[in-house]
Formats: sequence, structure tokens, C-alpha cells
Amino acid sequence: TKYVLITGGVVSGLGKGVTASSVGVVLKSCGLRVTCIKIDPYLNTDAGTMSPFEHGEVFVLDDGGEVDLDLGNYERFLDVTLTRENNITTGKIYQSVIEKERKGDYLGKTVQVVPHVTDEIKHWIQSVSSVPVDGQTCPADVCVIELGGTVGDIESMPFIEALRQLSFSLGKDNFCLIHVSLVPVLGVVGEQKTKPTQHSVRELRALGLTPDLLACRSAQPLIGSVKEKLSQFCHVPVENILNIHDVPNIWHVPLILRNQKAHEAIIKQLNLARSAGPPELL
Ligand code: ADP
Repeated sequence: TKYVLITGGVVSGLGKGVTASSVGVVLKSCGLRVTCIKIDPYLNTDAGTMSPFEHGEVFVLDDGGEVDLDLGNYERFLDVTLTRENNITTGKIYQSVIEKERKGDYLGKTVQVVPHVTDEIKHWIQSVSSVPVDGQTCPADVCVIELGGTVGDIESMPFIEALRQLSFSLGKDNFCLIHVSLVPVLGVVGEQKTKPTQHSVRELRALGLTPDLLACRSAQPLIGSVKEKLSQFCHVPVENILNIHDVPNIWHVPLILRNQKAHEAIIKQLNLARSAGPPELL
């Protein structure tokens, strides 16, 4: 299984969930089998006890797992049946580490965030991604991982570190990072601003992760010179800069990605063979 990691920068609520689901759709339409994992860096074990006013509706999976709404998007976009294990939270990871510690699994070692928590995260990701979710028996080709929150948050640091280690051990062909960021327009100047994206890419790099693709959220489609600028300053090839502008209906997002050949960029990045022909969506 190869991994596509979706991270977010600048502000929360950028549409990482919709981007992750839509990336899954375009890959699936290329004949690839896709599974997904949502990482929520909060300490709650699951979303079941969280106020819907604060967090949005809880989504209940077939196995009774009470999880983030994004898993509902994945199930609908990708026609898969996920389990509670597909939603990783800090609460679940710590619970498992603490249980192991009580059982004596760490054999007298000092139990630490690095390596014990990060190893648990890596282990969880790798074992969940090998479980097929589309009714077939062998593991999926690609696992889309969405990291909740914004890069740089204290809560998500152990996940970032675990994912950095995972990307290093798996190598470039097996791990593709898509960073979702915001390109705002300042009212007075009317210009699409690239600085917030530059800063968040820099922050990501400082943590040891390099974006392979950028998914820029903007109100209107990005103009060519802004893409060039992002490419130069963020060190991402211009064909790997995707633009997801505001749309009236989120079901348009896979089409936007397909029109920008997002599937080709990801498939090339992951060195994947795909069935011929442009993908037919929806
Ligand atoms: P995140 O996972 O980053 O918190 P979500 O994927 O949950 O964000 O999306 C946040 C909100 O933005 C949702 O209500 C979603 O419907 C909306 N949204 C996402 N992408 C777009 C888009 N391209 N155009 C319009 N609305 C969008």
C-alpha cells in the first residue's frame, strides 16, 4: 500500500476532508483501490462525546464507531465501509500505549512520546491501511491519510513526527504529501496572496516534511502568475500545484481535480501504473 498524506496549513476548516475524499475519488477512477484514515489529534477517544455545535455531527460507522464527519464523506465519495480503527485520535493512541505499559510490554523502558507514541502511530497506520474496506480480500493500492488540524499545532506534533519517519522509511515512491493551504485575496489590493502558503510550507519543511503537491483553496481560480510564484517559492513543480476554488457543491471538487490532472501528478509521484484512459467521474 502506498500513502497519500493530506495536511493543512494557514487556517482550519480549509476543506482538507473534502480534498482527501476527492483525491480518493480521482485515484479510484484510475482503477486504483483506495482506503483512508482520518487522524484527529484531540485527546477524546472518539467523537461520540463531543458537542455537535462545536464539532459538527458525529458519524456512526457500521461497526458502531462514533467518528468524525469526514469519515462519512469518505464512505460516500469512495463507496467503502470503514471501521472505528480508520479514525485515529491521540486518545486512542495513548490508551493503547498506556495499556501496553501496564502489561509490561516495554520491559522496564522509560515510555516516551518518541519513540513509543510515534511507533504506536506508525504501527496503527500500517495495520489499518492493510485492511481492505471495499469488500475485496487483498489490501488497497493507496491509503489516503488526512491529518486533522493545522501544521504546527502542538497536538499534532507526534503525528507529524511519526509521518515524517514513515515517509523516510517508505521512500519517495510510496509516500506523497499534499498540503492544503489558503490563497486569500485582500479587498483593497484585489491580489491573490501567496505569503500564507509560503509560510505554512516553510513550517512543514521545518518539521521534516516536504510537500509534493499543493492544493490551494481560493475564492476564485488562481491566476497563472500566482501559480508560478507559488511554484518558485514553495519548491513545488507548477504541474503539482492544484487549485480548489470555492464551488457551490462539494461534489464538484473531484471534477476540479480531474481537470487539473491531479491523478496524473499523484500517480507519477507514487510511480504507480494505472489503467489507460482519462478517468470518468461520477
Ligand atoms: P477541514 O477538514 O479542513 O476542517 P472540511 O473538509 O470539513 O474542512 O470542509 C470545511 C467546510 O468547507 C465544509 O463545510 C465543506 O463543505 C466546505 N468546503 C470544502 N471545500 C470547498 C470548496 N471547494 N468550495 C466550497 N466549500 C467547500
